[in-house]
Amino acid sequence: MASPVEPEFRGARRRLVETLQDKGIRDLAVLRAVDMVPRHIFVPETVRHRAYEDSALPIGNGQTISQPSVHARSVEHLQLTGKEKVLEIGTGSGYQTALLAELAAQVFSVERYRELLDRARPILQQANVRNVSLSLGDGTLGWREYAPYDGIVVSAGAPHVPPALKEQLAEGGRLLIPIGDREEQMLTLFTKRGGRLERRDITPVRFVPLIGAGGWPG
Ligand code: SAH
Repeated sequence: MASPVEPEFRGARRRLVETLQDKGIRDLAVLRAVDMVPRHIFVPETVRHRAYEDSALPIGNGQTISQPSVHARSVEHLQLTGKEKVLEIGTGSGYQTALLAELAAQVFSVERYRELLDRARPILQQANVRNVSLSLGDGTLGWREYAPYDGIVVSAGAPHVPPALKEQLAEGGRLLIPIGDREEQMLTLFTKRGGRLERRDITPVRFVPLIGAGGWPG
């Protein structure tokens, strides 16, 4: 990715990569992606100076860009090799979309707020991300047209796995989703084997709620 690199952010981004290593992120492809993607262009200007802290930040519409370590851990669990087709629910700022685009062949991302999608689209272009398709709508219904997906990552907290996402996951595919109540969830990894989902708990997290037909009421 030929990123619009501003030298003043390079050092900060390198330090973020070191912080993620200290926090246990081991996958070199994931660390390289964090080193490549200019997170500062995905966050609002008012918080740009904090873009390379390991913190969640507000992105508008009452939503937040997650902590870089949460993003890194999530994408690490998808174990991408560069060949996969991935579905992301909750484009938000588009930052994780850009990380996924570095790590997979094709990324499909669904967001329910038009304002966020309209903001993310030109930023992804500016970051030279080409292998991403964006869609406005209810991501709890997935994106049937391009299914099945080798990986699905849900960036908002759900009461349970939306049935459409289980259906649209390929055999052997991995689904990462925060499951719990509206305040606190367990980041959960599901692997599809023999048409069934095997469950593994990863870590407690706090995500904004997944609003939609297969999630929480709005
Ligand atoms: N990965 C994003 C996370 C943004 S927060 C980032 O780091 O910027 C979660 C996002 O999920 C919000 O943008 C919210 O609007 C979106 N969202 C919530 N429910 C959704 C649904 N049913 N379909 C699509 N997007 C949804």
